[in-house]
Amino acid sequence: MTTDLAAYAAENGVKYFMISFTDLFGAQRAKLVPAQAIADMQEEGAGFAGFATYLDLTPAHPDMLAVPDPSSVIQLPWKPEVAWVAGNCVMDGEDVAQAPRNVLRKLIAEAADEGMHVKTGIEAEYFLLTPDGSALSDEYDTADKPCYDQQAVMRRYDVVREICDYMLDLGWGPYQNDHEDANGQFEMNWEFDDALRTADKHSFFKFMTRSVAEKHGFRATFMPKPVEGLTGNGCHAHISVWDAPGDKAKTNVFAIEAGTGTGQTGELGLSEKGAHFLGGIMKHASALAAITNPTVNSYKRINAPRTTSGATWAPNTVTWTGNNRTHMVRVPGPGRFELRLPDGAVNPYLLQAVIIAAGLSGIRHKADPGKRHDIDMYAEGHKVRGAPKLPLNMLDAIRTYDKDKELKAMLGEEFSAAYIKMKMQEWNSFTAHFSQWEKDNTLDI
Ligand code: ADP
Ligand code: MG
Ligand code: MG
Ligand code: MG
Ligand code: MG
Repeated sequence: MTTDLAAYAAENGVKYFMISFTDLFGAQRAKLVPAQAIADMQEEGAGFAGFATYLDLTPAHPDMLAVPDPSSVIQLPWKPEVAWVAGNCVMDGEDVAQAPRNVLRKLIAEAADEGMHVKTGIEAEYFLLTPDGSALSDEYDTADKPCYDQQAVMRRYDVVREICDYMLDLGWGPYQNDHEDANGQFEMNWEFDDALRTADKHSFFKFMTRSVAEKHGFRATFMPKPVEGLTGNGCHAHISVWDAPGDKAKTNVFAIEAGTGTGQTGELGLSEKGAHFLGGIMKHASALAAITNPTVNSYKRINAPRTTSGATWAPNTVTWTGNNRTHMVRVPGPGRFELRLPDGAVNPYLLQAVIIAAGLSGIRHKADPGKRHDIDMYAEGHKVRGAPKLPLNMLDAIRTYDKDKELKAMLGEEFSAAYIKMKMQEWNSFTAHFSQWEKDNTLDI
């Protein structure tokens, strides 16, 4: 593991470091620091004017410093003279409480104190568009059911192969790539890892995918619902909890031999702890949507009408089941579950943080995940009684989050206040926007 960035630069021919942090909206911001200056920066951090960082700071705040975490450094495979490194935000010698990577680090430490080490894998779907974002990049990608389309994935082979090659070089263990369920949509999968490492990889994957797409004359987007009527960009998270971090992990705390557990959960090979963790996710689902589905556009993916492919592949109700993709949570096999709620706009760090917060809450309260519904939710969802509906829009989600005192406290009061404030500003900016729809539907009333 890298500990000294100056030595890393000398060994690898790195000329510039990109010291990067992720703001409350999920955007990555960075300074490019020449290798000659990195030794001091590693100690002190790169300086940013707080107000411009989208971390809910004012122009009067002192400088915010992003202190690089050398263990996260990645040489850009497409431009090896530059290395990306995640920074931890510090002000006046203390962690900035609302900075997403700090929120996650704190929750990881809390879980570790209780002997839990969360490992996750994510599926960051994306579309390839024309550079101005107005159309799909491939005008021939028009099939009604384009999932796994062999011909269409080959027309974008140069992009997909280049990204996958880079993940192979980086040692991420990529294992499959495909054309997804919407025209112009792709997914690339790599191995799960400790929550912080997955969050860093998720951030870097977005940066890399956008950069490689641009190089080929396209634009990659992770927007939750970029094209009306087509399946949206999900960002499913697969979750398990282990006895130790990293390579030291030996036992999957969520796993039991199928059939030896208690009640319904044992049947799916999810241990009691796993069931409680899941119980926490179920209990807090409508509130955590404010984090996993953070934009106005997010709610056009969940709650969506049927897409041209025939299914949205996104949930609208808080239900769980076995290996069946029509629910919010799927247990695909023993020892893990898949949260299908998050979308492509999710902040990589807050995604992991909110999973840990809700799961820890579930374990502490021995939460019950409730009844399993082994039905096709798209066809028979109306038969389910008592399962909460997910928020219908961003305002609904923010208000539900604001009411969830426990979740807010677990993610941190300072973070929650800052997040709610900035998201309300975004909502107000959206509602102040005068749309064509209003004119079309109101002009003659
Ligand atoms: P699907 O499309 O069937 O939902 P994918 O193969 O696209 O699944 O993605 C599965 C993700 O789950 C991968 O990142 C994989 O490494 C991860 N994963 C597999 N097992 C576990 C586990 N025990 N804990 C956490 N993540 C896991
Ligand atoms: Mg200046
Ligand atoms: Mg997948
Ligand atoms: Mg997918
Ligand atoms: Mg999935």
